[in-house]
Amino acid sequence: GFIFTVESAPLRFLVAPVDPCQDVKTAITEFNRYHSQLTGKALPVLHSPPEKTGGLFLAQKADFSPQELTVTGSFGGYRIRQKEGNIHIAGASDSAVLYGVYELLEQIGFRFYGEDLVKIPENHAFELPDLDLLKVPAYDIRIVNASENLGAHNLHTRVAYITKRVWEHTNLYLVPPEKYAESHPEYYAMRDGVRQASLLSPAEMYSQWVMLCLSNPKVREIAAENLKLWAENSPGKLFYVVMQMDGYGWCQCPECRKLDPVPGNIHTDRLLDYVNFLARRNPDILVVTAAYCYTAPPPIKIKPEKNVRIFLCPYTPEVGDQGHWFDAPDNRQFLPWYEGWTKQFSEHLYIYDYPLISRRNLSLPHEQMYFRMKRYAQDGIRGIRYCGRPSFMTALSYFVCAKLAWNPELDTAPLTQEFIAFFYGDGADEMQAVYERLKAIALQPDRIQSPAQPIQKFINIPEAEELLTLFDRAEEQVRQNPITLQRVRDEKSFLLRTYLDLYTPIRNPTADLGIFKRRLGEYLNIVVKTKNFFAKFPETLDKRQRSWLWSCAGIDVPEKNWVEDATVRALMTCPDEVTLDIHRQTTLQSIENGWEFPLEMVHGLEPPLIYGYHCPPRKCVLIRNNMTQFSALDADFILPVYPGAAFLRINGQDDDKPEAVHISVRINGALIFEGKNGFPENDWGDMELQIPDGILRTGSNTLRIKVNDDAQNIQTKWIAIHQLQLLCSNPIGNENKRCFFASFKENCIAEHGASKEPVENTMRIFKEALDAGYSAETSQSVLGYMTGNNIRFSAGTISLEMLPLWNLDDSDDHYRTIIDLRGPHNKSGFLLYKYNTRNFLNLLAYTEDGNVLINSPCPEWQAGKWQKISFSWNEEKQTIQLSVNNQKPVCKTAILRNQQNPPTFLYVGSMQKYVRNAGALIRNLTIYDADILHPMQ
Ligand SMILES: [Zn+2]
Repeated sequence: GFIFTVESAPLRFLVAPVDPCQDVKTAITEFNRYHSQLTGKALPVLHSPPEKTGGLFLAQKADFSPQELTVTGSFGGYRIRQKEGNIHIAGASDSAVLYGVYELLEQIGFRFYGEDLVKIPENHAFELPDLDLLKVPAYDIRIVNASENLGAHNLHTRVAYITKRVWEHTNLYLVPPEKYAESHPEYYAMRDGVRQASLLSPAEMYSQWVMLCLSNPKVREIAAENLKLWAENSPGKLFYVVMQMDGYGWCQCPECRKLDPVPGNIHTDRLLDYVNFLARRNPDILVVTAAYCYTAPPPIKIKPEKNVRIFLCPYTPEVGDQGHWFDAPDNRQFLPWYEGWTKQFSEHLYIYDYPLISRRNLSLPHEQMYFRMKRYAQDGIRGIRYCGRPSFMTALSYFVCAKLAWNPELDTAPLTQEFIAFFYGDGADEMQAVYERLKAIALQPDRIQSPAQPIQKFINIPEAEELLTLFDRAEEQVRQNPITLQRVRDEKSFLLRTYLDLYTPIRNPTADLGIFKRRLGEYLNIVVKTKNFFAKFPETLDKRQRSWLWSCAGIDVPEKNWVEDATVRALMTCPDEVTLDIHRQTTLQSIENGWEFPLEMVHGLEPPLIYGYHCPPRKCVLIRNNMTQFSALDADFILPVYPGAAFLRINGQDDDKPEAVHISVRINGALIFEGKNGFPENDWGDMELQIPDGILRTGSNTLRIKVNDDAQNIQTKWIAIHQLQLLCSNPIGNENKRCFFASFKENCIAEHGASKEPVENTMRIFKEALDAGYSAETSQSVLGYMTGNNIRFSAGTISLEMLPLWNLDDSDDHYRTIIDLRGPHNKSGFLLYKYNTRNFLNLLAYTEDGNVLINSPCPEWQAGKWQKISFSWNEEKQTIQLSVNNQKPVCKTAILRNQQNPPTFLYVGSMQKYVRNAGALIRNLTIYDADILHPMQ
């Protein structure tokens, strides 16, 4: 057996206080658990030593000089000392003794990699050397893992919870609406001249995160008293978070606005003024608040009290790239705030960071996380809390970050290697290679990792394929070990998902369907079994997974458990035999008075190439002779408007052999040309083919260009096509600016905002990627469209028709969200809504000068009547306009915020769980990429 000796004598007993606190009890249990694993027996726990040597003394605040106590502080520092044949562990706080025990175990040869990830020492004898170890954590708050309770990582955190779940957004809980809303609506935020408490029930106030009126002296009194009670009921807790509710609903009353240096704009001074009051009234605790959204810039007049700490939040959209430091192009808005806070208030500063990029796709923010932890510490920041964690190689990030939280100067490369060697066993070499490759990809300055950005900005298909090869090898290496194999596969699921998103034949007409199906089957097999994020949220999983299966693979899974779907099952067992109904749709590009077909998006042919034999080299596709499988070019495309008579302009050339090749051209099945082609030989030239009125149509159309000649040799009887344009014979004006149109189904269910079912394919995509998929991206009652690059903040117009099922006579005055077009974290874009009983419509715009609210009167509004709504924005004219039923628009001068960060989603209805939907039928939703609302209209 194992012998643990101190000065050549075995350790024989533990000494602990008579009535130890919970952490010391845990320390005893943990020590004995591992001691018995090694030696087969637990040591007796005594209150006084029976002998002079051979004891492990676990004590709180014992054996320390007052000076040493100050050094260790209150945040978990401890001392381990071997003295005269005994070991003493003492700490300055409850948890410190426990941390000390883990450290002692590591000294013996244990290694703690995570919960249930413990390496047992191989040596069977250990002589504790002359030891006197004092460890003090660099960070006071260390919430870098998910459980917040990973003792083995020395990460216990003494934050106090106000309810079982709430410890952060506590403000509303300090002044509970159920107690005060009715009698004192003035305690709560005023919006648009109305106290929110007079509109909402207490439950709604919590769910909508209503803010407090922070200037009200009574509010401060009540909050300070409740904070005191909270502290009295939370023994041993050090940190009390007093933080605004999420969102932007700050009180607009005159007294609150007076607390802002620029009234109504930045609220940091207002918040600190209030938090300072609470801190002065509770001098024995640390009061933690947050600098984010409208409190992110440093204060101008107010300085934090000495027991105030501030979570500074590198929050999107100010920090749009979690893979790089704050000087990266997408993060620069935050940099001056960071510098301002760290230079003036570093002793008050903690950080609240967001390393979760994607719950499903590949990401590797690890190296940037480590860099930031080191940098934060250098800049005097003393606490860190992650909101979300990386989903790929999560356990690795926990381990390294936990080590850095104590000592940010550690070299992370050996820690990474050590962890990977332990965790991935025989697959470690390949997984290390995966890490290194992905790290190199992530560090490139042009790669962006952000929840708001598409995966294409992070990684491309060849890189994903390279990583897949490494993963395939790693799987092979660990095939004999089910636990390690599952670990490798869990990680692989993120890569597979990413690969499938990049490679999907819906967007890559040249993708190999066989490869796609096999990788899809592999992915589905893993996520059904995996322990990763999916498995934890089966309901979310179901909706998101259905949506994803539709948009990535064209699989239409009815509303049920997707795992039971026949196509899904078949893909998991015999992918090669599955037929996928993939609609390879061509998305046209707008050009002057018409559209162009991108060559990459036509199908039926080999990929585009550069052809320059005896002619100027140009990119083209080849339509080959009738004996080959590449004899017809096909394009399915959507027209947003009816163009009337039009013509097809084709730039191309005939083959380099004598005699012109016979071709036919059909649009929507109608023959518009048949005969010898009119292109030159050994040069490029145009053919213009008239399309009579009545052949093209709004919505879905098809084009087919076919070579009709047979040939024995693939090298003859072909044509090359360099450019394909559809041009209108008559000007089509503003309609041409239309970049998205959806009529929706007439039978949509009003209660669900619009349609709960997937929008038809033909409505799904136009011009680069308005992808409806299933309706429920975030909640059950909303249609979410990915906006691709279609919506820009420089100029645009959105119009729609809406048939409300409520009217001005209704008694419940709910606000109904019609369009929610906002950037990440609701800090840019628009919210179009209406209180059903009020005779005006609201458009909230997030502008450079704060929020601008535009009201447009609609007195004739009534249930069951179609109403037309339009709004537009224009950077050049600096206007935002709103018009109802073609009235003269109401116009305000403003520029939208975050021009570089247009919204990635358009929601019809509300994306927020507790906010009511439009409660209306909506049709003819149209988005223009120009401001087409004129004041005179
Ligand atoms: Zn107020």
